[in-house]
Amino acid sequence: MANNRGVPLLELDPNGLYCAAGDFYIDPWGSVGRAVVTHAHSDHATPGSQAYLTARDGEAVLRARVGPEVPIQATAYGEELTMGGVRISLHPAGHVLGSAQVRIERGGEVWVVSGDYKLASDPTCAPFEPLRCHVFVTESTFGLPIFRWPDASQVISAIHAWWRANQQLRRASVLFAHPLGKAQRLLACVDPSVGPIYTHGAVERMNHLYREQGIVLAPTTHAAAGSRWDGALIVAPPSCHGTAWERRFGEFSTAFASGWMRIRGTRRRRSLDRGFVISDHADWPGLLRAVEETRADCVWVTHGYRAPLVRWLAEHGQKALAVEAHFEGERDEPVEEAGE
Ligand SMILES: [Zn+2]
Ligand SMILES: [Zn+2]
Repeated sequence: MANNRGVPLLELDPNGLYCAAGDFYIDPWGSVGRAVVTHAHSDHATPGSQAYLTARDGEAVLRARVGPEVPIQATAYGEELTMGGVRISLHPAGHVLGSAQVRIERGGEVWVVSGDYKLASDPTCAPFEPLRCHVFVTESTFGLPIFRWPDASQVISAIHAWWRANQQLRRASVLFAHPLGKAQRLLACVDPSVGPIYTHGAVERMNHLYREQGIVLAPTTHAAAGSRWDGALIVAPPSCHGTAWERRFGEFSTAFASGWMRIRGTRRRRSLDRGFVISDHADWPGLLRAVEETRADCVWVTHGYRAPLVRWLAEHGQKALAVEAHFEGERDEPVEEAGE
């Protein structure tokens, strides 16, 4: 991992991961000059920087987060740019629309920062691209062996069964999901012939941006325009659970679609009727496979369960170290999306 000037290509400073040779940050925590953003989730895309670089597919969703005026440079996946003394390119991470891994190269030395990623297929975004590199900076949101995801098609079938059972009881089905990414992935997979589908405003705003990019989702109606709820599926951010917004639906059943539903007790603690285990992050086997495919000399582990993954890698002969993260994984209840 040594390079021609003895200075690592990336280092951690108070604003996050910094590349001095190219003078940019990757997913900075504060306001910086130039931010390269892996994707538009709030734990990665912080407003307030002077300029942003993102993958073209993610430009509209990033714009929604950082505001209308800020300069955003959007690049195609795989397109190589030169910044200062480094070459930089963005490659699909398979996490949400426009999500990217950042590949940085200087003098034959390659570093890759994964951002959030998953290896499982998702009709709403480009599939994860394995990249070879010397240093791989991986997320580890679900970096524990208990996290193993069932096949997404099984989960969608279970959602259909729950929805139909609620219809027989003349109840609405309120499904909580992250409003950026998870909600759209579900809406791309559910069968709209089962019944009408309504959405919270935060979900509907993102649906609009996805559809503008040509992503096909089931037809949806903003819940503000609805009046009959029995038999309907309603997709909303988790922050709506237990609020007045939810109570308009009369008789209803609640469910949460998240990797966290894999943990026994989470559903009960949150007073949810059902939990569906579906995640836009790699599960434990996915993390291990992604790391292996990079053939990296060294792995930096950030975001989430860092220590268990570092320990496992070290025990299996892989040089690895934990790197601090400002936020730990997706916030299930994003404050900025609380409004209608
Ligand atoms: Zn994310
Ligand atoms: Zn994240």
